[in-house]
Amino acid sequence: LPAIETTGLQLRYPNGTQALAALNLHVAEGEFVALLGPSGCGKSTLLNLVAGLLQPSQGQVRRAASEADVSYVFQAPTLMPWANVAANVRLPLDLARVPRHEAEPRVQQALAAVGLGDAGARHPHELSGGMQMRVSIARALVTRPRLLLMDEPFGALDEITRHKLDTDLRTLWQQQASSGQPLTVLFVTHSLAEAAFVANRVLVMAPKPGRVVADVPACPEQPRD
Ligand code: ADP
Ligand code: ADP
Repeated sequence: LPAIETTGLQLRYPNGTQALAALNLHVAEGEFVALLGPSGCGKSTLLNLVAGLLQPSQGQVRRAASEADVSYVFQAPTLMPWANVAANVRLPLDLARVPRHEAEPRVQQALAAVGLGDAGARHPHELSGGMQMRVSIARALVTRPRLLLMDEPFGALDEITRHKLDTDLRTLWQQQASSGQPLTVLFVTHSLAEAAFVANRVLVMAPKPGRVVADVPACPEQPRD
C-alpha cells in the first residue's frame, strides 16, 4: 500500500473556488516529498485533504497511516503558553490517555531527538523561534507517526536557523529509515533551495486550479554539522 494515493482529487470551497484540479498522486512509504509552488496553488489544501481535515469534492485520498499515525506541523508553533515544554510535547499522549509513566520517557526521547533534552522545564516564551519550532516537531514525533505533514514549518525563521532545522529534520528522517520504521514526509515550502536540500522528491505545483506541473527527484547533500 502506498503511503498516499490520490485519484482525480478535486476540492471546491463553499465560495466556488476550485482549489485543486483532478490530482493523481502516488507517494511511497518512506519518501520525503517537498511540495513547492507559489501562494494559492493548493499546497495547504492538499495537505488538509491528506490529513482528513477536508473532504474531497471529487475523487479520493487513500492513506496507509491511520489517523493516529499522522502528525501535522503548522507554520506557527501553536504551543500552550501556560504549560512547560515537556507538558506541551506530552499533550497528544495525554489526549490518547497514555499513562504518565509511559509518556514521560517518550517525551524525553522526543525532546532529545530535536536537541532540546534539557529544555523540558522551560516555558515557550523563554525560547527562541527556532527552539519553539523544535518543540512543535517533538510534539509531532512523540506519537511515533508514520506520516508527517509539514506546512511551511520553518517559513517564519531566519535562513540560518532554517537551514539548521532542515538538516536536523533530514537526519531524523534518515534515522527512522535505518531503524526500519520509515517516516513519510510531505513538506510544503515556497523555497526552491529548501525543497532541493531537504527532500528526495520535489512536486512543483501551479495555481488556478492547483495541479502538479513537475515531479522531480532531488539529490540532497548529506547532512553535516
Ligand atoms: P497554498 O497553500 O499553495 O498557498 P491554498 O491551498 O491555501 O494554497 O489555496 C488554494 C486556493 O484555494 C487559493 O486560490 C485560495 O485562495 C483558495 N482557498 C484556500 N482556502 C480557502 C477557503 N477556506 N475558502 C475559499 N477559498 C480558499
Ligand atoms: P536553534 O536553531 O537551535 O533553535 P537558535 O538560533 O534559536 O537555535 O538559538 C541558539 C541558542 O541560543 C539556543 O540553543 C538557545 O540556547 C539560545 N537562545 C536563543 N534565543 C533564546 C531565547 N530567546 N531564550 C533563551 N535562549 C535562547
